[in-house]
Amino acid sequence: MRVYNFNGGPAALPLPVLERAAAEMLDWNGTGMSIMENSHRAKEVVAMAEETQAVLKELLGLGDEWKVLFCQGGASLQFAMIPLNFGQGQVCDYVDTGMWSTKAYQEAQICGAKAHLAASSKAEDYTFIPERYDFSSNPRYVYLTSNNTVRGTQWPSFIQNAPAPLISDMSSDFLSRPVNLENFVLVHAGAQKNVGPAGLTIVLIKPTWAETGQKDLPHMLDYRTYIEHDSMFNTPPVFAIYIAGLTFKWLRDEIGGLAKAEKLNQAKAALLYKTIDDSGGFYQGTAQKASRSLMNVTFRLAQTDLEKTFLSEAKDAGLVGLNGHRSVGGMRASLYNAVNLTAVQALTDFMVEFKNKKG
Ligand SMILES: *Cc1c(COP(=O)(O)O)cnc(C)c1O
Repeated sequence: MRVYNFNGGPAALPLPVLERAAAEMLDWNGTGMSIMENSHRAKEVVAMAEETQAVLKELLGLGDEWKVLFCQGGASLQFAMIPLNFGQGQVCDYVDTGMWSTKAYQEAQICGAKAHLAASSKAEDYTFIPERYDFSSNPRYVYLTSNNTVRGTQWPSFIQNAPAPLISDMSSDFLSRPVNLENFVLVHAGAQKNVGPAGLTIVLIKPTWAETGQKDLPHMLDYRTYIEHDSMFNTPPVFAIYIAGLTFKWLRDEIGGLAKAEKLNQAKAALLYKTIDDSGGFYQGTAQKASRSLMNVTFRLAQTDLEKTFLSEAKDAGLVGLNGHRSVGGMRASLYNAVNLTAVQALTDFMVEFKNKKG
């Protein structure tokens, strides 16, 4: 039996995607073998990878100035690749909104960038997205994390009039809403939140920007290598790319695109936040309301000693993955695209019942 999966990542994938992958497991696309057993140079596989890039660009409304890359090493390798390519010896501005942006900032220092904190919500326990920034006078780029998976905060809109191009880690809200990437030059997202299996990292980059990067890097750390070889300089994570492609088509054809996805995500999050806010303090959201994430809903029980019972009874009821990130504790319900309203309804029904029993 499939459970209601609220994992933070790796996370729920759309059922039709899993069913299609299962049906094609032994004989993919008439090749008489699974996609994993095909050469990445086979024409069918190359066509699949190209189509996956095209559908992603279509979903995001991206033009020819953008290139889709399939990288590895997770979002965490991007924390290093970005400063290695663009930040060495240069001032780079970072906005610190939680654990993943802190890691990106620290990695930039290791990689030789003069990383500058333009804003941080650390003093208030990362409960909000800062709206005031102390930018450097001429930074190379401005880096932000669009959705803070651990703390449950999300940028409602992005910085206007930044002093440099924007770069963002969008791992945990990638494709959850339409985004205007006009002021961006690079976006990265680990696949395991909203796209597909871990092991694939999607990078969107403007090749004109990539050209301005450091020239003496090892091939696998240089964005130009991925651009020149269409992400096939070495063996890419073919199976993960294939699942990502199925997810992109599901988003386009069954959900109806990113504006529709956003509407669904808003309805899901609204239902859960309302249940928290209407609980008379029994449940308490941890993020400030204006910064609340549509993807990761973080909350606590006023009676923290009941949290263990909450999690174990939820699990018995088929609601799994509700524990908060191990660095903060409490509860987190991740409502990625593949988590539907029925799942959220089951969760809120459970929460009301639990409160009536224990409150
Ligand atoms: C999960 C996550 C990461 C870490 O990704 P890895 O693929 O494990 O390196 C980084 N940033 C954000 C925003 C995340 O949600």
